[in-house]
Amino acid sequence: MLTKCMRYPILALAALALTACASPAATGPGAPLSTAGIGPAWDATRSEAILARTQRLHLDADLSALTPGERAAVDELLAAGERMHALYIQQRHPQALAAQAYLNAHPELGPQRDLFWLNSGPIASTLDNTREPFLTVQPETPARNVYPAGTTRAELDAFFTANPSRRDELLDDRTVVWAATPENRRRALAALDRYPALDTLHPGLRARLSESETYLSVPYSVAYAPDIFFIHDRLIAAAGHVESGDPAFARYLRLRARDLLADDYEGGDAAWVTGDFVGNLNAQIGSYETYDDALYGVKTFFSLSLLVRDRPRSDELQAALQDIQTVENALPYANHREVRTDIPVGVYNIIADFGQARGANTATILPNEAYLARQYGRTILMRGNILLNEEQFAETHRAFSAAVIQSQSDDITAEGGFYRTLWHEIGHYLGVDQTTDGRDLDVALEDTADLLEEMKADLVSLSAARILNQRGRITDEQLQNIYASGIRRVLQKNRPRREQPYQTMQLIQWNWFMDRGALRFENGRLRIDYRRYPEAVTSLLREVLAIQRAGDRARANAFVDRWTNWDPALHEVIAQRMRESERTRYTLVTYEALDER
Ligand SMILES: [Zn+2]
Repeated sequence: MLTKCMRYPILALAALALTACASPAATGPGAPLSTAGIGPAWDATRSEAILARTQRLHLDADLSALTPGERAAVDELLAAGERMHALYIQQRHPQALAAQAYLNAHPELGPQRDLFWLNSGPIASTLDNTREPFLTVQPETPARNVYPAGTTRAELDAFFTANPSRRDELLDDRTVVWAATPENRRRALAALDRYPALDTLHPGLRARLSESETYLSVPYSVAYAPDIFFIHDRLIAAAGHVESGDPAFARYLRLRARDLLADDYEGGDAAWVTGDFVGNLNAQIGSYETYDDALYGVKTFFSLSLLVRDRPRSDELQAALQDIQTVENALPYANHREVRTDIPVGVYNIIADFGQARGANTATILPNEAYLARQYGRTILMRGNILLNEEQFAETHRAFSAAVIQSQSDDITAEGGFYRTLWHEIGHYLGVDQTTDGRDLDVALEDTADLLEEMKADLVSLSAARILNQRGRITDEQLQNIYASGIRRVLQKNRPRREQPYQTMQLIQWNWFMDRGALRFENGRLRIDYRRYPEAVTSLLREVLAIQRAGDRARANAFVDRWTNWDPALHEVIAQRMRESERTRYTLVTYEALDER
């Protein structure tokens, strides 16, 4: 399963905060640091239109519980993160580092600098949902900067057809594809000469780099060697600082440092997911997510999240997991399974995010690779200071208030959203995980699998809330807050396109809730009927679990078609009210730990 389910960008964009560190070494082809020819491409009006819709979110995690060793480790990990961030923007655009150097030399260009931080590079997402350069750099291409400039999918597909044996090598998730020019070949081999550890950790690579024609598949550790070694050294130093207080975390950091040199994360992932970290820190480190690869969706992009554990909430969460088997047994299907209660889940506050992880994501579940998830499980990181952030919640509250009758507009709380999200993540561990005849769900249901899996997690969350309430673990008021959050979740500002799994399954829930009387349309607004709510959830969950068990894609699609009606006199009325309530669309995140404001 992919991790996208874990990421609800309440507001659409990852943001990039100002980092004061020195520029990293220019590495790899297409990373010229010449700022010649770079200047503003937009007039002030265009920049201001976007910045006027941008919310500034300053994260200031409480670090008072940290030991002196942990504080020293934080400094090392922040330095690693800043370098990771530079790698990320370099992966995204061939001129990103040059554009950054240009902006650093022109402090008067405040709006451009904000746009650069907001968009992690010189290409902006506009209010019309297009991607355009706001500095005079090349337009964005699907190749980004992880395939040779100008490469098209057709071109590479043709190459793979003619050279099928090279497909896996070139589409490796942790290599950059370079054109096999003499200069590039020399550059890659020079990195192996300079860093013999890379030669040792990549058996056969030297021969491939020497002999490959047309394209070279260059491991990230080789393509970005000076930066990767800088990060490696910071992780080793951080490990030394936490060794005595949190040995499992130290072992994870050391393994991850080695993973980065080997471009193979199994060791570090195993230590990360299964380790018993007893200190205050946790960190997501390395390249995981593929969202930025617009050519094949396989190349991973760098990120680092440095997190401090929210101990009371994490403990409370672990206590709640005692009820997980009860929740499973109460789900409306037969064939219940035994659920592990030692799910590695914690609540954290973000100290700082770098690279692909930067932004307003509310939760993360990693690793992605099925073979790693099967063998070691996956870790769930709840991002408390985003989930419970007042400004973020204010935007959610405005949309909810615009949609429901006035007397219910304060039923939603940030806390309710937090618990709904939490149990959504846990919900992925519960319910059907195979078809009756033993197939994996994504194999059986293909393009409808994600949609159903996400809807299942939403509905398990709402079911869990009811069960926790019955067992006296949450109050009636908390249950109502979670239910209200479940309604806000499914209301749409625009009619979803069928290829949008999240929005589509949310619309299904909206329609089902109307049909079962949990929602009623009154004078242009919605009224929630909390008495009918539990049955509406249970009946829809029963359908979803049955479709998953059957593994019948045609039945799944027929179900989706039947429940995705969009009525101009209902949905569009609510959607428009919510659109009109919107004040900000983008979020620019800054971090106290980086001395940003
Ligand atoms: Zn999910």
